Amino acid sequence: MKYQRPQLFIGGKWQDSTGRSTITVISPTTEEPVGTATDTTSEDLDRAVRAAREALADATWAALSPDERAALLDRFADSLEERAQQTGSVVTDENGMPSSLSVVAEGAGPAATLRYYANLIRRTPTESERVSADGRSTTIVRREPVGVVAAIIPWNFPQSLTMFKLAPALAAGCTVVIKPAPETVLDAFQLADAAEEAGLPPGVLNIVTGGRETGAELVAHPGVDKVAFTGSTAAGRAIGEVCGRLLRPVTLELGGKSAAIILDDADLTKVARGLSWASLLNNGQTCYLSSRIFAPRTRYREVVEAVADLAGSMPVGDPTDPATRVGPLVSRAQRDRVESYIATGIREGATVAAGGTRPSHLDRGWFVEPTVFADLDNDATVSREEIFGPVLAVIPYDAVDDAVTMANDSDYGLGGTVWTTDPDRGLDLARRVQTGSIGVNFFNLDIGAPFGGVKSSGLGRELGPEGLDAYIALKSIYTL
Ligand code: NAD
Repeated sequence: MKYQRPQLFIGGKWQDSTGRSTITVISPTTEEPVGTATDTTSEDLDRAVRAAREALADATWAALSPDERAALLDRFADSLEERAQQTGSVVTDENGMPSSLSVVAEGAGPAATLRYYANLIRRTPTESERVSADGRSTTIVRREPVGVVAAIIPWNFPQSLTMFKLAPALAAGCTVVIKPAPETVLDAFQLADAAEEAGLPPGVLNIVTGGRETGAELVAHPGVDKVAFTGSTAAGRAIGEVCGRLLRPVTLELGGKSAAIILDDADLTKVARGLSWASLLNNGQTCYLSSRIFAPRTRYREVVEAVADLAGSMPVGDPTDPATRVGPLVSRAQRDRVESYIATGIREGATVAAGGTRPSHLDRGWFVEPTVFADLDNDATVSREEIFGPVLAVIPYDAVDDAVTMANDSDYGLGGTVWTTDPDRGLDLARRVQTGSIGVNFFNLDIGAPFGGVKSSGLGRELGPEGLDAYIALKSIYTL
């Protein structure tokens, strides 16, 4: 087996589980096992939360000055950078992300997020004074860590989505228990290796493994003060309900069905190049992708052709090959789900303008050809539900106002794009779309700006200074 992780990382030590079960990770490319990790029992989970609580209580982390914490975060970033190539390869082996993407997004990206928060905490005072509203006294507003954080992670961008939570939480002085998805449990231990090498104090970062039950147990654990979750809307709702009952702060980054609005003046060659990132990144398994493409009716056939050509031109295959742009879906179940959506699209009468089947040149692996549906409207099932695979719907519109109305007629509101040669027109339109983030002529997450969703796409924000605030409890001290 290529990777073996027989122990858990708890309280700064590698520890045996009290149980004997293991999790096997299957390569989506070869359909063969690539690694195993130990599974977590309730006792292990309890030990991990206790280690995080003790690290919080004995003030080895929160009591450090922001500069001292920032220096350790920078060392942690150094250690992650040293193993960036290797971490990217582990992620590709686990979830089929093309290696050209995994080395950048999963290998190098998390270190940049850590450095961003290290710098931010250096510049953010722990206490600030204000004159009281009646002018008679002074109030000290103090920023304290919210406490022990449970971070629950999906499989699609496991390292970067972990770091969206871990970096601000650590910068704020919180301690963290991470639960990765079972499909991508192996790369989580890369983080533990780097944290250990960087000398992060014991108990500041702990990792537990397992699936939904372990996640649910962690969310409800009495020793947890805050939950940060990325994953499906269904799981997010379940977690939100538990946190509501417990009055436990929670951040939820959930699903999406974002819109690309192509204006009548758009340069379709540039649009197609941009959509390869904005609509098909990571084999279509990215939460913010513009998977509904709105095209002016006057240029509808041209747009369908450009998007179909794009889908047909992206090399599908072994994700470790640097030329590959579309790898396999993460699991057999995910491929079944995507194929069943393709069948629904056909049954409801949409035209398949590209793809629609498994690639004929590959005899193993959970691959699906990038697929483009045309001649459908915004009410089709494939236009409304999150598919989480390389499947796009190109929908015609008459007036720009209709495009905005349809873009906003969705349960979700996470990402989106506008495509035009007139940047002012693009900006004007971007302001009208109900979403947490939107790009004009591209889409690229900015770690310095808040990211998250409206409607069923989530609650709260990650990244930027706002992402740090999610791990802070504010205290006002009134003084005379
Ligand atoms: P999932 O919700 O099934 O699982 C995500 C994680 O939550 C896993 O670690 C899983 O074990 C755990 N989990 C599942 N149910 C749980 C519960 N009831 N309580 C506690 N933990 C639970 O999602 P997935 O299939 O792994 O990921 C795909 C989904 O994630 C897509 O819907 C996608 O849109 C979404 N996603 C959103 C963002 C974002 O930032 N908004 C980013 C990436 C992925």
